[in-house]
Amino acid sequence: YSDALRLICALERKCNMEIKITLGDITKVPADAIVNAANPTLLGGGGVDGAIHAAAGPELLAECRTLGGCDTGDAKITKAYRLPAQYVIHTPGPVWRDGDDCEEELLADCYKSCLKLAAEHGCRHVTFPSISTGLFRFPLSKAAPIAVRTIKEFCKNKDIFDCIEFVCFDEKTKKAYETALED
Ligand code: ADP
Repeated sequence: YSDALRLICALERKCNMEIKITLGDITKVPADAIVNAANPTLLGGGGVDGAIHAAAGPELLAECRTLGGCDTGDAKITKAYRLPAQYVIHTPGPVWRDGDDCEEELLADCYKSCLKLAAEHGCRHVTFPSISTGLFRFPLSKAAPIAVRTIKEFCKNKDIFDCIEFVCFDEKTKKAYETALED
């Protein structure tokens, strides 16, 4: 009887992960790991990357210098310094060209690489920005469904995370992720 109860509890736990979509500045939202939409040098840049480095302090750049860059679609983890998190997971998203350069696969790879690292480091609450849809020009209407689908597939029937949160910087982005989540 107690074995059966334990099994039911385990199954329920697996279904408890929340995908949350919020509006805000990702550097202000507490999490176990914050994902950074980086570039392959990992040496900082504009957009969310610049905001994350500014909020974390210069120690983040110093640690990033030791990493030797990162391939597009891959991810690397550092400490989070002054950010309200334990880790930053840096992933260079693809630059959108014409859609024929594996942009969609590479974007899905970014989400998978980040989730894998977060899981390996025991992070239960992970925040994501909208990878590639700023300076890298990935169409939002294509990026949002890829992001949501990849996260759902990765987490299906597994008790790895409590909350995966998209922190959107503007209403248009928030709406696109909400639409993708409803579909
Ligand atoms: P990429 O180079 O991958 O396109 P960007 O930083 O240019 O990265 O843009 C990715 C998304 O991050 C865009 O939707 C942009 O508006 C958003 N963004 C910029 N600053 C922040 C921030 N502080 N918090 C959350 N999202 C942000």
